Amino acid sequence: MNCKACQTAFPDLLLDPAAPANAAARAHLAACAGCAQQLRALEATVALLDTWQAPEVSPYFDQKLAVRLREQQAAPAPGWFERLRTRLLLNTGRQFRPALAGAMALVLIAGGGSFGISTFSHPHTAQVAPMSAAVNDLQILDNNEQALQQVDQLLQENAPADDTGTTPQS
Ligand SMILES: [Zn+2]
Repeated sequence: MNCKACQTAFPDLLLDPAAPANAAARAHLAACAGCAQQLRALEATVALLDTWQAPEVSPYFDQKLAVRLREQQAAPAPGWFERLRTRLLLNTGRQFRPALAGAMALVLIAGGGSFGISTFSHPHTAQVAPMSAAVNDLQILDNNEQALQQVDQLLQENAPADDTGTTPQS
């Protein structure tokens, strides 16, 4: 038995050193100081792990989780922009990134366009709009800022992947 095969048998040796299946590994350990030292180090590590106590879960964990679930259930459904933003933030599939970048560019264009239209038509729609023009403009600005951040994030995340040679485009 060589050193590599002996080290592969270390878990078995830790669980049951006297097992007949470990005879070859034991014979190697008796002749190889390096493997014997590695096994002693592993034994010390496992012994240390045995002394570790997992922390107790907070007694209020279940209640807090239930409250947060109820809050989320009672909350109004997120708008399409919020859903898209969440999907962008949590998405890890690289194959969707070009499509999402295109979608965000469309959001930027649409956001810029509606900003121009909303500022232009304020004198006529001021009585109809439920919120004040200033709040509306601030929200549009905020949405545009979020879209810009998302596109920046996409560009930053795509940049290192350029040299991997696995571009999604065919
Ligand atoms: Zn060895």
